[in-house]
Amino acid sequence: MSLNSTQRTATLAATQAVTYDLLVIGGGITGAGIALDAASRGLKTLLVEMQDFGAGTSSRSTKLIHGGLRYLKQFEFKLVREVGRERAILFRNAPHIVIPEKMLLPVYRGGSFNRLSLRFGLWFYDRLAGVKRSERRKMLNRAQTMVQEPLLSGKNLQGAGIYSEYRTDDARLVIEVIKTAVREGATALNYCRAEELTYADGKVTGAQVRDLVTDASHQVRAQYVVNAAGPWVDGIRKLDGSEKGKRLHHTKGVHLVVPHKRLPLRQATYIDAPDGRMVFIIPRQLWTYIGTTDTSFKGDLAHPRTTAADVRYLLEATNTAFSEAKITQADISSTWAGIRPLIHEEGKSPSELSRKDEIFYSDTGLVTIAGGKLTGFRKMAEKVVDVVAERMNRAGGNVGRCVSDQIGLEGGSLGNRRSLAEFVEHLQRESGVARKEVEWLAGLFGSNARQILDWAAELEGEEELRITRAAVRYAVEHEGARTLGDFFIRRSALLYFGREWIAPVLDLVADELRTWLGDDHVVDPEQEFARMYREVVEFPKDDFAVAAV
Ligand code: FAD
Repeated sequence: MSLNSTQRTATLAATQAVTYDLLVIGGGITGAGIALDAASRGLKTLLVEMQDFGAGTSSRSTKLIHGGLRYLKQFEFKLVREVGRERAILFRNAPHIVIPEKMLLPVYRGGSFNRLSLRFGLWFYDRLAGVKRSERRKMLNRAQTMVQEPLLSGKNLQGAGIYSEYRTDDARLVIEVIKTAVREGATALNYCRAEELTYADGKVTGAQVRDLVTDASHQVRAQYVVNAAGPWVDGIRKLDGSEKGKRLHHTKGVHLVVPHKRLPLRQATYIDAPDGRMVFIIPRQLWTYIGTTDTSFKGDLAHPRTTAADVRYLLEATNTAFSEAKITQADISSTWAGIRPLIHEEGKSPSELSRKDEIFYSDTGLVTIAGGKLTGFRKMAEKVVDVVAERMNRAGGNVGRCVSDQIGLEGGSLGNRRSLAEFVEHLQRESGVARKEVEWLAGLFGSNARQILDWAAELEGEEELRITRAAVRYAVEHEGARTLGDFFIRRSALLYFGREWIAPVLDLVADELRTWLGDDHVVDPEQEFARMYREVVEFPKDDFAVAAV
């Protein structure tokens, strides 16, 4: 099976003839990881996602593959060790989208850390998370800190620590994992919603799914069903009649994007917010993004919005740490809001809730996985598929152990190049295409950028436009893209980082989608873009004056 959107009808029809070993509900990072783990152990696996792959929380995170420094403060040592190990595996298996990023953590008098606690915390973190010797912490005094990051406010500054984090593109990570799962034999369908679970003798045996493209309903059969619906897991447990005991606590996190020239940080920085929480400020090419908030959420899970209060909070934190920057609402070029699917704990505030994952079992056989992080997705998947494998083996099956730590993700075959930068260098020499184009493509598609460059070479016209057209074709044929949003938000991240580049290619991308998917596919690009813009970019303006502290 493939992720080719032009063959979606045939892919869906083929599901009718199969009884799957495993049906996975949810195509965020959790479901994607489970599908990859299961398929690579030889299970016949089907994943259904009601939106686009990654369109839930997994495209709306801080986009960090964490070592989990903040968990040290909560004494979650096991979690720090586990995510540290996972981070190293992911870096090895997906070097094109897991990029080392030094993080500066300034120390202020009266702040979250003092120099001694930070020195000890980072030392402990390096050891627990298994950080490579060359990437271990560095402590800076006040003067060194100001040289490292001249934009920082000097008042009460005592010094800083520098430690290792890794940056990713969350939606692309989901898509690469799903592509890899499909390569390993899984079937994955986006825009396909599980509407009812089906049962035989009290055991769940599949689901009634609706194809949201044609509105047709289909029965899919599976021996085991896993609920990996992220913020929606309780909804699926409700369908199953098993929503009892622990439940989710949804919290919202918002990010703001400003042009890098307005906040020209030299490296990512982790600052104190006035309420004692901590906020990341991360440069990314021509932009800098700021996040995140953490507030309880009870609204529409599919359409969380940025509010004036979110903006005020993040700008206050930013302008306190970088008092000369004086960032205002007018500087914000986009925002995004995501919902954390955390497990409720009585009496705890959003920031205090554990980020640990947990598996819930139902008498019907439904297995639900809740909580967790992007970073730990592979380990979460292993735990879930171990449960399924054990059940299958008890019934006479022969399912092997997890091997996903050994599987290179799609796009990650950089040959003998040691980093993405070396690969870009090589690909540019090989293709003769402008460096910025190769950088853009390889940063998104990794080693699969080669295929796009080959297709672009067969087209006529300006290089930039040929490459855009070929990238759209690749997204349709290899990544299940169907809409402008699929391309501009989750395949290329342009709506967040590079909105001004969309208008000149909007019609071209719409035409290309029509070429591959049919004439009636994108009816009114302007209108669709305006809808996307309202959903993802806009926020209610406030008349607050941003305090420059
Ligand atoms: P989702 O990504 O939401 O996926 C669940 C999917 O299920 C959705 O796409 C949904 O459409 C689908 N679905 C629901 N119901 C159905 C149905 N009936 N049929 C079919 N499909 C269905 N983690 C990190 O490691 N690093 C970070 O930097 C980080 N930053 C974060 C910042 C914020 C603001 C937030 C909110 C989270 C952050 N996280 C981070 C946590 C991480 O993003 C989440 O833990 C993770 O993305 C959750 O993935 P998921 O697959 O469980 O949920």
